[in-house]
This record gives sequence, structure tokens and C-alpha cells, in this order.
Amino acid sequence: MERITWDQYFMAQSHLLALRSTCTRLAVGATIVRDKRMIAGGYNGSIAGGAHCIDEGCYVEDNHCVRTIHAEMNAILQCAKFGVPTEGAEIYVTHFPCLQCCKAIIQSGIRAVYYANDYKNHPFALQLFEQAGVKVQRVPFDVESIPTFLYKKGR
Ligand SMILES: [Zn+2]
Ligand SMILES: [Zn+2]
Repeated sequence: MERITWDQYFMAQSHLLALRSTCTRLAVGATIVRDKRMIAGGYNGSIAGGAHCIDEGCYVEDNHCVRTIHAEMNAILQCAKFGVPTEGAEIYVTHFPCLQCCKAIIQSGIRAVYYANDYKNHPFALQLFEQAGVKVQRVPFDVESIPTFLYKKGR
């Protein structure tokens, strides 16, 4: 029986998380994984209790929405909040992380970044990942593949 691969499974989770995004500019999801287990997840959204972009509009400065915390940062902060080590973990993201998130990912000890979509891939981020020995790999994700697993005959 055909099973979904781990890569597609965790990437699907990140795409599901992205559906919770509150920013109208881009919906991003991130899943932190260790030993093939999801230890945290995040999407880009406002701080808890804060106004949402979907309600009040984006807060744009220098062509960036500064209202939200990025998905990767939210996932890392969730680990910090609950005391879950990120050392040696891996992260699955819907989009290539921004420079700030790349630095946070490296500093948190995450050893691999899997991303589905290229997104302004910053050359300095790629340089930092390489210097830090963090594996970076694009994992193409086709959302249409999920229903074939969900509705497979015999399930
Ligand atoms: Zn926004
Ligand atoms: Zn970011």
C-alpha cells in the first residue's frame, strides 16, 4: 500500500498551518520536526490578542508587513515558550525563509530546512546556511496529491 512520504507529510502540515495565516500579503506555514515527530508549528500572524491584517489591513513599512510574526519565528518561539529543544531539529516551510528567520533558524540549532516554494531567496541567507552546515533542500509540494491518499479505495 502506498504511503505518503515523510517529506510530503510534514510539508502538508505546513500548508495546513498556512491556512491560519492572518496576513493578506502572503500565507506561510512552518513545522519543526525532530526524529520524524512534529514538535511545533507556526504561521505568520499577529501577536496573541493583537489586531489582524485581515481585519485592519497590513501595517506596511518599506514594502514589508511589520504587523506579523513570521511562521518560522512563531514555531521557534513556541518551542522557547514551552521549553522544547530545537537543537538538531528540522523545519519544513511553505516558502524559503526571509533573512531574519534564516538567522533565527541557524541560531536555534535547526540542522535542515525544507521549503516548497522559492521566495526572494536571499544570497546572504544561502551563504549563512552553508557556513553553518545547515542542509537546505527544496521539496516541491502538490496539494492535489493529498486527496488521492485521503480517498484511496479501501481506506
Ligand atoms: Zn499583513
Ligand atoms: Zn521570516
